[in-house]
Amino acid sequence: LMDIKSDLARHRVKVGGVTLGEELLIMAGHCTIDPKNPNLFYETAQAVKEAGAHAIRGGVWKPRTNPYAFQGDNKSLDILMEGSRRTGLPVDTEVMDEEQLKLALAAGVHVLQIGARNALNYSLLRQVGAAIAGKPVAVLLKRGMHTGTLNEFISAAEYIVNFGNPNVILCPRGTQPGLDGYRNQPDESITPLLKERTWAPVVVDPSHSVGRATYVPACALAAVAYGADGLCIEAHVSPAHGLGDDPKQAVTPAALAGLIREAKALHAL
Ligand code: PEP
Ligand code: MN
Repeated sequence: LMDIKSDLARHRVKVGGVTLGEELLIMAGHCTIDPKNPNLFYETAQAVKEAGAHAIRGGVWKPRTNPYAFQGDNKSLDILMEGSRRTGLPVDTEVMDEEQLKLALAAGVHVLQIGARNALNYSLLRQVGAAIAGKPVAVLLKRGMHTGTLNEFISAAEYIVNFGNPNVILCPRGTQPGLDGYRNQPDESITPLLKERTWAPVVVDPSHSVGRATYVPACALAAVAYGADGLCIEAHVSPAHGLGDDPKQAVTPAALAGLIREAKALHAL
């Protein structure tokens, strides 16, 4: 990964119809799928597709700070895959352990997300790397929320590609402590540094970086200005009816459509 002169340096990660590095990849959808309200997810999936997204995100299993908060549900995996069938788009979901990894792969999830809380969980990174070897699956690796150095982030990705599947995507998502008023310290500015040191594509998550829907478009555009290859954005047809981060953080499909237009125009400059 760090040897940008290796053969892998010519590798291009693809998600659905998009080749990273050629076209700006937009992934969008719920923070958390509500297993009691599958239609909300299907409506969001369709709406983000119409807004211009190329892939749908939806949390099935959630790493929650509060142990009494909704932790996700295996049933949401079927909802996620039904959203993929209905839209014809690939889907992304976070896995936190080997059981979830097996279920997600068996269901046909296209992009496995490793969350900020597991960014340096080397046994999980190894399990994921081994499980995806030889499969047409990609991994969206979030930057650890407490990650100190870029080297730690890049080395974590190396754990995955080491097993032979080079489809890893680096995802800055803000670090702690947060800026007063923002959920995290936005870190989209590390994009060009990552790209100097690795061949891996960078897809920035502006949603968790700022944590407030109003400021997501500005952070997304900043990421594109810094050279990001894509964006992963929380969006919801009705944020107030969402779970997890969605009530505060999710943009509406209309806001998403506007931001995709601007992001694409900036990317084309
Ligand atoms: C998420 O994508 O909803 C999520 C929990 O992200 P992170 O791991 O970046 O906090
Ligand atoms: Mn979230």
